[in-house]
Amino acid sequence: MSRRPIVAGNWKMYKTTTEAVAFIDELAKLVGKDDDVAIYLAVPFTLIKPCSESAKGSSIVIGAQNMHDATEGAFTGEVAGSMLLDAGAKFVILGHSERRNIFKETNAFIHKKVQRALELKLHPILCIGETLEERNDEQTHSVLQEQLSECLKGASVDAINNNLTIAYEPVWAIGTGQVATPEMADDAHRFCRDWLRQNFNEDIAQNVRIIYGGSVNSSNCNGLFQKGDIDGALVGGASLQADKFYQIVESAKQRGSVV
Ligand code: PEP
Repeated sequence: MSRRPIVAGNWKMYKTTTEAVAFIDELAKLVGKDDDVAIYLAVPFTLIKPCSESAKGSSIVIGAQNMHDATEGAFTGEVAGSMLLDAGAKFVILGHSERRNIFKETNAFIHKKVQRALELKLHPILCIGETLEERNDEQTHSVLQEQLSECLKGASVDAINNNLTIAYEPVWAIGTGQVATPEMADDAHRFCRDWLRQNFNEDIAQNVRIIYGGSVNSSNCNGLFQKGDIDGALVGGASLQADKFYQIVESAKQRGSVV
């Protein structure tokens, strides 16, 4: 099994349907039939269906930025995983630091969402990462360990094999223009892979892709992609323009798959 790089865009709360469809059309032309890199776009809920329809026939994969863990119920304003699948989503970002910090999501809640997404075979991109204060206190590894242990508690090898991506996103790097150095990111990614080896097995450690997020752009991604444990990127701001986003895809293509 080889780890094909993933470049995933996170559009956050941006774009109308017209803008989104124009973006997909432009990106699809740039990508052509190429599938050396998995290209994911996490779009707002309202854009999942139109984007999935526009992306048909291309290798662009559409997903969501969040979900609730319940199957259905009285949860005003929330969306269930089955509804995301119904709209055409193939993956979902869970535990993004903006969900953790602004909406007070805990590891326990994220764990329930991960379990549900795995059950539905809606590929979760689980986000983890330390704050600046935690990094300065040399707590990075212990924070990652806690987030991984709590969010993946009880997950079976079968459920996560080929059906989980981890995004290491240091909180201090998200939306700040302050990207982690390739060495910092590589250290965190290696830590996560070792954790997977110790808590699951060697196959899982080799198969699960670990991508970096935090102020990635076309100028700084090359250095990150040269590190063997960095399997791609989760990109916020630089995913909003198709040509800029595609430059990151091109860099990931140079890196190729890790076998
Ligand atoms: C993100 O939203 O996950 C992200 C990494 O944002 P940015 O690339 O803008 O830092």
